[in-house]
Amino acid sequence: MRKNFVISKQSDIDGFNSFKCSLCGEEFKLLASEVQEDDVLELFCPNCGIPSPISTYYTEDLIDHAKTIALNEAINMINDMFKRLEKSTRNNKNITFKRGKSLPNTKPRTLYEKDDLEQIEFLCCNKKAKLSLLSKTIRPFCPYCGVN
Ligand SMILES: [Zn+2]
Ligand SMILES: [Zn+2]
Repeated sequence: MRKNFVISKQSDIDGFNSFKCSLCGEEFKLLASEVQEDDVLELFCPNCGIPSPISTYYTEDLIDHAKTIALNEAINMINDMFKRLEKSTRNNKNITFKRGKSLPNTKPRTLYEKDDLEQIEFLCCNKKAKLSLLSKTIRPFCPYCGVN
């Protein structure tokens, strides 16, 4: 059985979401609306300039949050299974099944956007990003086309 989860994270006040390069660890922000455009499949890290699929840029808090939700879903399934088992053996004289306490769910990590980056505009693609002050100063690569 396969289930899909929709994880939504609120963008910051300007509509930006965080991304993190898995290769160099650079954190930056892009406009969610621009990243979701159909022709954007890969992003170039503004710091190291290496292109990777968008999914490799998800930040740890997002992955953590997704894991918790998946775990809770599994726990709920187990709880349900025991509930059904108890119900189905209720009138059975040979087997009595009494379930214990339900397994508790974990509260997913709260997702929020920090606002500690500098906004920059990449004229090559006419798109905006937010970068750390350091990356902004050292001629960053455009996340969309990789131009430096
Ligand atoms: Zn990088
Ligand atoms: Zn560009």
